[in-house]
Order: sequence, then structure tokens, then C-alpha cells
Amino acid sequence: MTTIHPAIVPIACLLLLAASCGGARQEGPDEAVSGKSLAGEGWRTAAREMVRRQLRPRGISDGRVLQALAATPRHLFVPPKAVAGAYMDGPLSIGHGQTISQPYIVALMTELLHLSGTEKVLEIGTGSGYQAAVLAQLTDSIYSIEIVKALADSARDRLARLGYHNVIVRHGDGYRGWPEQAPFDCIIVTAAPPEVPPALVAQLRPGGRMVIPVGEYYQELLVITKSESGQIKRAGVIPVRFVPMVHPPQQ
Ligand code: SAH
Repeated sequence: MTTIHPAIVPIACLLLLAASCGGARQEGPDEAVSGKSLAGEGWRTAAREMVRRQLRPRGISDGRVLQALAATPRHLFVPPKAVAGAYMDGPLSIGHGQTISQPYIVALMTELLHLSGTEKVLEIGTGSGYQAAVLAQLTDSIYSIEIVKALADSARDRLARLGYHNVIVRHGDGYRGWPEQAPFDCIIVTAAPPEVPPALVAQLRPGGRMVIPVGEYYQELLVITKSESGQIKRAGVIPVRFVPMVHPPQQ
């Protein structure tokens, strides 16, 4: 599990990070690009450079994953004032105190799901929809839950407008999963709970896998697998820092 990741991040590096979601480590230098150079098909050059400079050197090697990130217009998932930094090596604010995850973390978590193209995937924490857009290119159906209604609504519109028609976004508390749609072949959690939510484990299909950051201030990214007989295994991958998973008490 851990062998495919040469980029193990010393926890000290993480102290350099500002409040972030889906961040591992910052690396420089990488430049902001002008909004003009992203116009038309120009963004594709920035996306390819992102893959070449940020993902490949850190050990992301699944060609389908690299291709999906190169083909996703990340600048359309950030607020207008953040467009120039859209392909840079870090998380960015998307408003409501939330962020779009660092490209490397999106790539790593996607790679860890081992998608073959037929899986039904649950994502917790839609944000602006970038991770969902990447997943949409790699498998059949994505169900994504976002707890901030304004983000859920705008991500739903954005994903539809950009043609990612196999993503269904719902406003709600992902801690409880999506029981009406369970079981899921894969679950990807992009906000950090202090412990693995039992409902998510229950909604994972036997033979399925979940990628989830678990912990309080800093977290460990875990891969949780459920065997055909229902046995649960956890493997730690890398230290990370995500926004906390909000879990309001049930009304
Ligand atoms: N997947 C996003 C990451 C967004 S940051 C991306 O592609 O960039 C994590 C998101 O999780 C935030 O938008 C936050 O509002 C949301 N979140 C936090 N707790 C949640 C919960 N209990 N259920 C669903 N979403 C939650």
C-alpha cells in the first residue's frame, strides 16, 4: 500500500501549511499564470505542466489518473480572483471557509481508489466539485455530498455545465453516508473526521475500498479495505491536513 508513494511527507513540513484542505506539502517554485494564458485551450498547457512538475515527480504513475487531471479545467473550479493560481501546488480558498484540495492530494486519493471504470463511488465533501470532476472521467457514477448548501448548489450547476453528467450532488451530512444509494464500491472522504464514520464502513461493498483522512488537527490518510467476507483492514499512507468534517447533531 505505501510502496507506491516515495513522497512521504515529514510532519514538520506540514507546519508550513496555512489552514488548508487536502494539502500535503508546498513546493516551489511554481508560477501563477495570467488569466489570459488560460483562455481558450490555453489552460491545457498549465494543466499538463501541473502533471509534469507536481504529480509525476511525487510518484503518481497511473496513466488514467494523470490524464484525468490533465484534462480537468481546474481554473473553472476556483473563484475568479484565484484563477491565476489555479494550477499551482496547493489548496485554494473557495469561500465559506472551505478550499479546493491540492492537485497532488486529488491525484493521490484518486490513484488509491484503483478505479477500473465500473465502480459506483461516494464522495464526502464536494467543495467546488474538482475531485468529483476528476472521478467522473474514471468511472461510471459518482454520488457526492456537501454540507454547505451554497457550495452543493454551485458545484451541481458547475459540473452539469461542464458536462460531468455522471455526478449527482446532494446537500447533507456525509458523516451518515448515502444509505439510499449504498453499497458503494469506493468511498472517498475529503474532509477529516476524528474517527472513521461507522456508517461509511457499513455502506462500503465487500471487496470495496475507502480513502479517508482521519485525525484532529493533522491527519493520516488511510486506505480502508473490506474483504469479501467483510473483514476490515486499515493502512496508513501519508500525513495530511484537511478541513474538519462537520457533523451536526441529528435533529
Ligand atoms: N472534494 C473537494 C474538497 C473540498 S474541501 C475538492 O475537490 O476540492 C472539503 C469539503 O467538505 C468542504 O466543502 C466542506 O464544506 C465539506 N464538508 C465538511 N464536513 C462535511 C460533511 N459532514 N458532509 C459533507 N461535506 C462536508
